[in-house]
Amino acid sequence: MASDCIFCKIIKGEVPSKKVYEDELTYAFHDINPVAPVHILIVPKKHILGIQEMESEDRELVGHMFYVAKEIADSLNLNPDESLKGGYRLVFNVGRDAGQSVFHLHLHLIGGRSMSWPPG
Ligand code: 5GP
Ligand code: ZN
Repeated sequence: MASDCIFCKIIKGEVPSKKVYEDELTYAFHDINPVAPVHILIVPKKHILGIQEMESEDRELVGHMFYVAKEIADSLNLNPDESLKGGYRLVFNVGRDAGQSVFHLHLHLIGGRSMSWPPG
Protein backbone atom coordinates (compact mmCIF):
# COMPACT_ATOMS: atom_id res chain seq x y z
CA MET A 1 0.00 0.00 0.00
CA ALA A 2 1.22 3.48 -0.84
CA SER A 3 -0.10 6.19 1.48
CA ASP A 4 -0.42 8.84 -1.24
CA CYS A 5 -2.06 6.58 -3.85
CA ILE A 6 -5.69 7.36 -4.72
CA PHE A 7 -6.48 3.75 -5.68
CA CYS A 8 -4.93 2.36 -2.47
CA LYS A 9 -7.19 4.80 -0.59
CA ILE A 10 -10.22 3.58 -2.57
CA ILE A 11 -9.35 -0.07 -1.84
CA LYS A 12 -9.04 0.74 1.89
CA GLY A 13 -12.36 2.64 1.84
CA GLU A 14 -10.70 5.96 2.75
CA VAL A 15 -11.98 7.47 -0.50
CA PRO A 16 -15.54 6.53 -1.54
CA SER A 17 -16.15 4.56 -4.74
CA LYS A 18 -19.00 2.71 -6.43
CA LYS A 19 -17.93 -0.87 -5.91
CA VAL A 20 -18.76 -3.47 -8.57
CA TYR A 21 -16.80 -6.49 -7.33
CA GLU A 22 -14.21 -7.48 -4.74
CA ASP A 23 -12.20 -10.58 -3.88
CA GLU A 24 -8.97 -11.24 -1.97
CA LEU A 25 -6.81 -10.04 -4.87
CA THR A 26 -8.81 -7.38 -6.70
CA TYR A 27 -11.27 -4.51 -6.30
CA ALA A 28 -13.46 -3.17 -9.13
CA PHE A 29 -15.38 0.12 -9.20
CA HIS A 30 -16.99 2.60 -11.59
CA ASP A 31 -14.67 5.17 -13.15
CA ILE A 32 -15.42 8.68 -11.84
CA ASN A 33 -15.21 10.11 -15.37
CA PRO A 34 -16.76 7.45 -17.64
CA VAL A 35 -15.99 7.50 -21.36
CA ALA A 36 -18.83 5.07 -22.18
CA PRO A 37 -22.11 3.88 -20.58
CA VAL A 38 -20.06 1.19 -18.80
CA HIS A 39 -16.58 2.16 -17.56
CA ILE A 40 -15.22 0.03 -14.73
CA LEU A 41 -11.69 -0.15 -13.33
CA ILE A 42 -10.31 -3.48 -12.10
CA VAL A 43 -7.37 -2.93 -9.76
CA PRO A 44 -5.13 -5.31 -7.82
CA LYS A 45 -5.06 -4.78 -4.05
CA LYS A 46 -1.27 -4.97 -4.36
CA HIS A 47 0.22 -1.56 -5.20
CA ILE A 48 1.93 -2.06 -8.58
CA LEU A 49 2.72 1.15 -10.48
CA GLY A 50 1.66 -0.17 -13.88
CA ILE A 51 2.25 -2.90 -16.46
CA GLN A 52 5.76 -1.55 -16.99
CA GLU A 53 6.56 -2.30 -13.35
CA MET A 54 4.90 -5.74 -13.38
CA GLU A 55 7.19 -8.52 -12.14
CA SER A 56 7.29 -12.20 -12.99
CA GLU A 57 5.47 -13.04 -9.74
CA ASP A 58 2.54 -10.82 -10.82
CA ARG A 59 1.66 -12.88 -13.90
CA GLU A 60 -1.14 -14.84 -12.24
CA LEU A 61 -2.53 -11.70 -10.65
CA VAL A 62 -2.75 -9.91 -14.00
CA GLY A 63 -4.36 -12.99 -15.54
CA HIS A 64 -6.87 -12.94 -12.69
CA MET A 65 -7.66 -9.29 -13.45
CA PHE A 66 -8.66 -10.30 -17.00
CA TYR A 67 -10.84 -13.11 -15.67
CA VAL A 68 -12.57 -10.71 -13.24
CA ALA A 69 -13.17 -8.28 -16.13
CA LYS A 70 -14.75 -11.06 -18.19
CA GLU A 71 -16.98 -12.14 -15.29
CA ILE A 72 -18.14 -8.54 -14.73
CA ALA A 73 -18.80 -8.15 -18.47
CA ASP A 74 -20.84 -11.38 -18.36
CA SER A 75 -22.85 -10.14 -15.39
CA LEU A 76 -23.65 -6.90 -17.25
CA ASN A 77 -24.55 -8.74 -20.48
CA LEU A 78 -21.71 -7.06 -22.34
CA ASN A 79 -20.20 -10.24 -23.78
CA PRO A 80 -20.60 -10.56 -27.55
CA ASP A 81 -23.49 -12.75 -28.75
CA GLU A 82 -23.17 -15.73 -31.15
CA SER A 83 -22.77 -13.36 -34.09
CA LEU A 84 -20.06 -11.49 -32.13
CA LYS A 85 -22.26 -8.38 -31.87
CA GLY A 86 -21.90 -6.37 -28.67
CA GLY A 87 -18.67 -6.72 -26.77
CA TYR A 88 -16.41 -4.42 -24.83
CA ARG A 89 -12.86 -3.19 -24.64
CA LEU A 90 -10.16 -4.00 -22.06
CA VAL A 91 -7.34 -1.46 -21.83
CA PHE A 92 -4.15 -0.92 -19.88
CA ASN A 93 -2.68 2.51 -20.50
CA VAL A 94 1.09 2.17 -19.98
CA GLY A 95 2.93 5.43 -19.38
CA ARG A 96 1.87 9.06 -19.64
CA ASP A 97 2.03 9.24 -23.45
CA ALA A 98 -0.36 6.29 -23.65
CA GLY A 99 -2.78 8.08 -21.33
CA GLN A 100 -1.85 6.65 -17.93
CA SER A 101 -2.66 9.20 -15.24
CA VAL A 102 -2.94 7.01 -12.11
CA PHE A 103 0.14 5.01 -11.20
CA HIS A 104 -1.53 2.05 -9.52
CA LEU A 105 -2.18 -0.74 -12.03
CA HIS A 106 -5.73 -0.77 -13.41
CA LEU A 107 -7.58 -2.49 -16.22
CA HIS A 108 -10.27 -0.42 -17.93
CA LEU A 109 -13.47 -2.29 -18.85
CA ILE A 110 -15.31 -0.09 -21.34
CA GLY A 111 -18.58 -0.97 -23.03
CA GLY A 112 -22.19 -0.15 -23.77
CA ARG A 113 -21.53 1.61 -27.08
CA SER A 114 -19.78 0.80 -30.36
CA MET A 115 -16.14 1.92 -30.58
CA SER A 116 -13.78 2.93 -33.31
CA TRP A 117 -10.27 1.69 -34.08
CA PRO A 118 -7.51 2.87 -33.89
CA PRO A 119 -7.93 4.63 -30.55
CA GLY A 120 -6.78 8.23 -30.28
P1 5GP B 1 -5.56 6.10 -16.64
O1 5GP B 1 -5.69 7.45 -17.30
O2 5GP B 1 -4.44 6.13 -15.61
O3 5GP B 1 -5.46 4.94 -17.60
O4 5GP B 1 -6.92 5.87 -15.88
C1 5GP B 1 -7.19 6.41 -14.62
C2 5GP B 1 -8.69 6.44 -14.49
O5 5GP B 1 -8.99 6.64 -13.13
C3 5GP B 1 -9.34 7.58 -15.26
O6 5GP B 1 -10.27 7.06 -16.19
C4 5GP B 1 -9.99 8.43 -14.17
O7 5GP B 1 -11.25 8.94 -14.56
C5 5GP B 1 -10.11 7.45 -13.02
N1 5GP B 1 -10.04 8.06 -11.70
C6 5GP B 1 -9.10 8.94 -11.26
N2 5GP B 1 -9.35 9.27 -9.98
C7 5GP B 1 -10.46 8.59 -9.61
C8 5GP B 1 -11.21 8.52 -8.38
O8 5GP B 1 -10.90 9.16 -7.38
N3 5GP B 1 -12.29 7.70 -8.37
C9 5GP B 1 -12.67 6.96 -9.47
N4 5GP B 1 -13.77 6.20 -9.34
N5 5GP B 1 -11.99 7.00 -10.63
C10 5GP B 1 -10.90 7.81 -10.70
ZN1 ZN C 1 -1.81 2.14 -4.89
